[in-house]
Amino acid sequence: MEPPTILVSNDDGVHAPGLVALAQALRQVGTVIVVAPERNWSAVGHTKTMHKPLRAVQVALPGVEGITAYQSNGSPSDCVSLGLLGLAGRPVDLVVSGINDGANVGTDLLYSGTFAAAAEAAIAGVPAFAISLDVGQYLNYAAAAAFAAALAGDMLARARGQAPGERPWLLNVNVPDRPEGEIARVQVTRLGTRVYQDALVERLDPRGRRYYWIGGNVPTGLVEEGTDIGALAAGDISVTPIRLDLTDEARMDELRTWAAPDG
Ligand code: MN
Repeated sequence: MEPPTILVSNDDGVHAPGLVALAQALRQVGTVIVVAPERNWSAVGHTKTMHKPLRAVQVALPGVEGITAYQSNGSPSDCVSLGLLGLAGRPVDLVVSGINDGANVGTDLLYSGTFAAAAEAAIAGVPAFAISLDVGQYLNYAAAAAFAAALAGDMLARARGQAPGERPWLLNVNVPDRPEGEIARVQVTRLGTRVYQDALVERLDPRGRRYYWIGGNVPTGLVEEGTDIGALAAGDISVTPIRLDLTDEARMDELRTWAAPDG
């Protein structure tokens, strides 16, 4: 049997240590092709470039030989599109995005370029997962990469058993930053509640005009059992199944009782 083809991207840029560790680890599972942004696009969300040309040039991954890698001026989700629509040169069986520098939990998924890259694959009908390291003092990307390789094997096996047209699996994974050799437990979770500490910072530019930063402290979150935030707080790996249908089905009936939607 042909080895599966795995497309790897990220939002921290093609030279980020998390991407290099991920691409290396996934070689045990299949043929790896990298298409990743040329610069850091963290927190760009799902950006589709429509008004300028996309470039993709082949690059060498730092310290890695034998992996075909491209860097692009496009967003993370553009990179996945480029790969799936032809740059990979063959059908892609799985897309893996990461390993992001920092956790992506709760509503972070709406901002995250890491997650958007995986979501782009799911839109195109290809199974995918996003993986992020809750970076602390150890920067243990190797542990996250090893988990990614195991999960990729499971997802590929699962995908082979799926009927054509079935919704592809889409997962969001967060790995705690533990010291070398400490194996984390794995929890299947739901998205938790991020608590942002955004604050408006107002300054004056050299010409006396006001400008703004959305600043403030780093976000926290509600530590609740069963959530991604709860799992990380317990030192566990969090795996959340994600669907892209944002419909709030529980509110459809109530909405029908409003005057306006009925006309
Ligand atoms: Mn990032």
